[in-house]
Amino acid sequence: MPDRMSKRAVLVQANQPVEIWQHPVSAAQAGEVVVRVLMSGVCGTDVHFWRGEVDLPGPMVLGHEGIGAVEDLGEGVTTDFAGAPLSIGDRIYWVPLSPCHRCHYCTVEKDLSLCENGMAELFRAADRPPSACYSEYSWLPAGMPFYRIPDDTPSEAVIAFGCAMPTMLQGIERLGGININQTVVVQGCGPVGLAAVLLAKLSGARQIIVIGAPERRLAMAARLGATDIINMEEVSTAEERVQRVLDLTQGRGAEVVIEAAGVVAAFGEGLKIVAKNGRYLVVGLWSAPGTVAIEPRYINNNNLRIIGTALYQPEHLYGAIQVAQKNHREFPLAEAVTHRFSLEDSQKALEAVARLETVKAVIIPGL
Ligand SMILES: [Zn+2]
Ligand SMILES: [Zn+2]
Repeated sequence: MPDRMSKRAVLVQANQPVEIWQHPVSAAQAGEVVVRVLMSGVCGTDVHFWRGEVDLPGPMVLGHEGIGAVEDLGEGVTTDFAGAPLSIGDRIYWVPLSPCHRCHYCTVEKDLSLCENGMAELFRAADRPPSACYSEYSWLPAGMPFYRIPDDTPSEAVIAFGCAMPTMLQGIERLGGININQTVVVQGCGPVGLAAVLLAKLSGARQIIVIGAPERRLAMAARLGATDIINMEEVSTAEERVQRVLDLTQGRGAEVVIEAAGVVAAFGEGLKIVAKNGRYLVVGLWSAPGTVAIEPRYINNNNLRIIGTALYQPEHLYGAIQVAQKNHREFPLAEAVTHRFSLEDSQKALEAVARLETVKAVIIPGL
């Protein structure tokens, strides 16, 4: 591969517009892969970085949901991380994490997502191309897990919910699954909530109640399997929403409640709508600062189990590709991508996501 220049969108300082920088890209070394980015999901977490709600490690390239075409394969790379043969031009989806396999979390807990050394360098806007994907080219160091996307699966269907889908796959695994005929409440209808709705539907839930806004996202929730919608723009108080859920569940609440709202107040509200012996999965509050008053007696009196989940493992990213391949014809997954921006318009993309205008926004370098 000849050396070439690559543009990347760099967040230099929180609350400032991202800048477009140029850096050279060179050939992949042994074990590495260089990809030409085809599509990069714009995630709520990117907005948190831009607003300074998560600390910046210095000038940073955003983007952790990337689909790219293989541009260059380093020596020894002949397959993806599930053994599928790999050629130049193949589409791949990668985990922007390079587990060290030499820390407590990697080897004792066997939870690669919590690796203490796996992420630090990957988003820095240094000379090397980043593994982040608001970029024309991305660099996958040796050991960074990636998977080939089958030819019959549109990129949009894979990226439709971005990191939310693998995150929900891990969450539902930690929850212990959703059983056939159970009643599920999903708090929130952004990508995390929509992924939860789809997985609840695929699990055989009888009733899927979604609490959220705005209308555009709720309409998508209905198409993915929601049976009842509680629009927060119409049902504006927590008391009313709790009552509405109780009315819809014979006064018992839901056997499974999934917090995907990203708002700490949702937690106190959620505790009141979990049925006796029910389970409450908290997914959406990753790095969300703040406190909320709760009544612990709900946990005690109602035999509740509260389960947290953070990030995901490589197997869940692989699972997200499988969910897309199996379901993109029956469900409008690709239609969840409602906004497309060029790399140069990365700032506009962040602002559109911050205003909740999108179901899912993507950046397409070269658009
Ligand atoms: Zn590690
Ligand atoms: Zn994300």
